[in-house]
Amino acid sequence: MIDDIMQQLLCSVPGLNVKTNEPMSRHTTFRIGGPADLWCRPNTIDELIETVQFATNKGIPFQIIGNGSNLLVRDGGIRGLVIETTALNRIADRDDNVIEVECGVSLSDLVLYAMERSFTGLEFAYGIPGTVGGAVYMNAGAYGGEMKNCVIETDYIDSSGNIHTLAGDEHRFCYRGSFFTEHPECVILRTRLKLSAGDKEKIQECMSELMGKREASQPLQYPSAGSFFKRPKGYYAGKLISDSELRGARCGDAEVSQKHAGFIINAGNANCSDVLCLMETVQSTVKKRFGVDLEPEVKIIGEEK
Ligand SMILES: Cc1cc2nc3c(=O)[nH]c(=O)nc-3n(C[C@H](O)[C@H](O)[C@H](O)COP(=O)(O)OP(=O)(O)OC[C@H]3O[C@@H](n4cnc5c(N)ncnc54)[C@H](O)[C@@H]3O)c2cc1C
Repeated sequence: MIDDIMQQLLCSVPGLNVKTNEPMSRHTTFRIGGPADLWCRPNTIDELIETVQFATNKGIPFQIIGNGSNLLVRDGGIRGLVIETTALNRIADRDDNVIEVECGVSLSDLVLYAMERSFTGLEFAYGIPGTVGGAVYMNAGAYGGEMKNCVIETDYIDSSGNIHTLAGDEHRFCYRGSFFTEHPECVILRTRLKLSAGDKEKIQECMSELMGKREASQPLQYPSAGSFFKRPKGYYAGKLISDSELRGARCGDAEVSQKHAGFIINAGNANCSDVLCLMETVQSTVKKRFGVDLEPEVKIIGEEK
């Protein structure tokens, strides 16, 4: 059955890089996740569009992913098709300090590209290990900056396979959300960012300073999906967890980082059940101690084993 669908997909999108039964642990920064029935990595935006249209026309469920750096995939894996965007990595200059970026461009590559042109406004994103698509989807942010401040237009494909463009406020950016978190069936193709002319040396300094802060405060040597919980209004998740004496707490090989209590790390061979068990322990302990509900920032997808 899955092999049949793969053959049909290859007839519709010849040359597509596609695999069956592909472990999602290979495609998430947590290094966790059971197999996807079908996984593919389009090489061009046209291939991406044709793949989405194929899945839509055949009624095959699909999940779009970027670098898998904000994902926790359950141990039973993903039924249907996973479409990974990381080969869609072209950047082009447009007029008036605008750059156009395909959805699979890594944020760090984008920041380096902007820096080379002395464009300022994106330094905050240096070191966030996601793609532009993932960052627009959830309005990624750090150190006072967020995607909202520079995204001006985004092309996307809807669930019927039609292409549209969002402009300005239509993105509906908010804390870790956007039009796309409200419409997860839509796929971001490319986005246009408006930046400002700046001083290359100052931009470089700012990037190194922010990277230094990341390295000093985050457990970057371990697989993780970054801050596991959203920031509750009026609090910091990491402080609540630390004040609940949960640093170093474990379920199997999932561990509340000693270095940054807001991170759950994969300290060995953790599976998704380990992380979910630890997540629930953290949520119930913080609720009991401080009466605060912690909501995961990480997207939890796929099926139980
Ligand atoms: C060490 C570490 C540090 C981090 N630091 C930060 C930080 O400072 N700030 C921050 O905001 N985040 C941070 N993150 C989390 C993560 O890197 C960001 O959320 C990033 O934007 C996710 O991008 P991604 O490509 O990995 O998306 P994925 O994890 O692959 O996907 C996340 C969501 O985006 C959707 N998506 C991805 N691409 C598309 C597309 N083309 N169209 C439609 N939907 C799409 C997916 O369906 C999924 O729902 C960190 C993560 C790690 C591991």
